[in-house]
Amino acid sequence: MRQWAAREGFGLCGIAAAEALSDITWFHEWVALGYAGEMGYLTDHRAELRRDPRALLSSAKSIVCVGMFYNSAQPHTAEVLGGDGRGWISRYAWGDDYHTVIRERLERVAAQMRTEWGDFDYRICVDTAPLLERSLGRLAGLGWIGKNTCLINQQKGSWFFLGEMLTSLPLAPDVPAADRCGTCRRCIDACPTDAIVPRPDGGWTIDSRRCISYLTIEKRGPVPEKRGPVPDFVMQKTALVTRKTGPVPDIGVGTHVFGCDICQDVCPWNRRAGTDCDEAFEAREGMVGPDLEMLAKVTEEEFRTMFRNSPVVRTKYRGFLRNVAVAMGNAGLERFRPALERLARWEDPVVAEAAKWALGRIGEPVKLALGVSG
Ligand code: SF4
Ligand code: SF4
Repeated sequence: MRQWAAREGFGLCGIAAAEALSDITWFHEWVALGYAGEMGYLTDHRAELRRDPRALLSSAKSIVCVGMFYNSAQPHTAEVLGGDGRGWISRYAWGDDYHTVIRERLERVAAQMRTEWGDFDYRICVDTAPLLERSLGRLAGLGWIGKNTCLINQQKGSWFFLGEMLTSLPLAPDVPAADRCGTCRRCIDACPTDAIVPRPDGGWTIDSRRCISYLTIEKRGPVPEKRGPVPDFVMQKTALVTRKTGPVPDIGVGTHVFGCDICQDVCPWNRRAGTDCDEAFEAREGMVGPDLEMLAKVTEEEFRTMFRNSPVVRTKYRGFLRNVAVAMGNAGLERFRPALERLARWEDPVVAEAAKWALGRIGEPVKLALGVSG
């Protein structure tokens, strides 16, 4: 089965038993602390369904957990962002939408299994069902959950997508991976918004409300904390040195348009992992550090064409323009004024509000004293 999975492009494959997950206790605490923000799909009645995967497939005995790599041979945040008006789209969104790709490939693995082994029940999940995917991935030996909350594989790092096949087949479970973060705290120190916060039990977690990924992808309406560090003096240092000695005095999304990669960019396990990317996730043209002025001119039709079958459509056109406007404000470049004036007249109040805010920032890029040393 692992060979069939590998043939479909799954570089990682492991088995977890389909049984109640102890991580559910912490998940409920995390929700109670408000760290899920406005992500209703995490906090509503579906939260409890995450306790036991058998809530999704009552006959499930095992869960096949797979990982597909998307670490293309392209630069990382700090190598691209430099205060010259480029924005950032998260690496995972440079190619095709992983939900579709992984589901199709897992279906093919299931078909192969049925051909070889006969009929069985199964259900495929790719970030689409209430499942503690990273907990299952850890139990299946794919990696450990790092302080940045990503699943990290010792050999391959964390640039991989997860998928699961719940199955009625009684497959032998793998051994969970050991935690190898040790005393490292690079992601914590590098996070520009201090979104990686201590857990009551001594570990670390993410307060989504402060996380750029949440603010640019999940958050609807106005971005509450627009101010943000300008890349040229923060990004490069955080990536290279990652030793911030003072508090971040403000939080904000910087020039991020869709998501944020910083806490993965700085992780030493990713640095030694090397590149490995399924062709479906290779960067489409214009995705790596696009010019913000160019993005501000994209029409709704162009948006649909440019991001067809891409995760970026999740923001919808209005959310995309809102993010572009905020990023332009944080870049503070005079050349953005005409584009922002146009967006300030946009009929959508969220876009117009963001653009008006951004116009007030022109000429005043945020200068933060981060106390970065080294
Ligand atoms: S994705 Fe960015 S903002 Fe969110 S925790 Fe990681 S570094 Fe911080
Ligand atoms: S940067 Fe360090 S602490 Fe953060 S996830 Fe990677 S190894 Fe763990």
